[in-house]
Amino acid sequence: MGFVVVGLTGGIGSGKSTVARFFSDELGVPVVDADRIAREVVAPGTPGLAAVVEAFGEGILGPDGALDRAKLGEVVFADEAARRRLESILHPLIGATSMERLAGYAGEGHPYALYEAALLVETGRHETFAALVVVAVDEATQVARVMARDGLDEAAARARLASQLPLADKAAAADYVIDNGGPLEETFAQAREVHAALLARFAEAT
Ligand code: ADP
Repeated sequence: MGFVVVGLTGGIGSGKSTVARFFSDELGVPVVDADRIAREVVAPGTPGLAAVVEAFGEGILGPDGALDRAKLGEVVFADEAARRRLESILHPLIGATSMERLAGYAGEGHPYALYEAALLVETGRHETFAALVVVAVDEATQVARVMARDGLDEAAARARLASQLPLADKAAAADYVIDNGGPLEETFAQAREVHAALLARFAEAT
């Protein structure tokens, strides 16, 4: 059973989602998206949402009974203990659901799956993967793309970047760096090369 999990990360706006979509849609690689799972585990009716309400009160719910992320963000933003409490609720749920999802792909004959997450190097979790792919761009491009995508001014975009480890530090931890500073065709050509390298590295173990 030669199935391994490869981490895929980058900085905000570096192009992680764009590259992950290419791996999944064009190369047929299973991708587990940590951000999406983070939303799933607190969807209406889940034990995760119940636990968050128990910890922080019903004030973090919207009128429809779904989690209001902005309100929850306000509660934990300036309160380190609250943020840790939230993480202690969410991280085990996200971890368990991610493992389940990845295990589902293990029997399907794929040599590897990608685990896409914004924070992997920050948490040290990149070391638990068989390899790490980092999507990198220069900082000016990163800021410009975040401004355009999220409708932010430069100061707000830079503040988002500042809450993450610099991309150069992530790239230093990578086994494979995909430079997304140019046109998408160039990015996708590099993704194909990385895919070929990962297949060569991990398919032989099957
Ligand atoms: P991340 O998931 O790392 O936050 P995205 O994949 O959402 O980043 O990319 C950030 C923004 O930049 C998106 O609006 C995306 O369409 C755009 N983008 C990504 N790669 C390129 C590229 N090579 N050229 C131009 N725009 C790009």
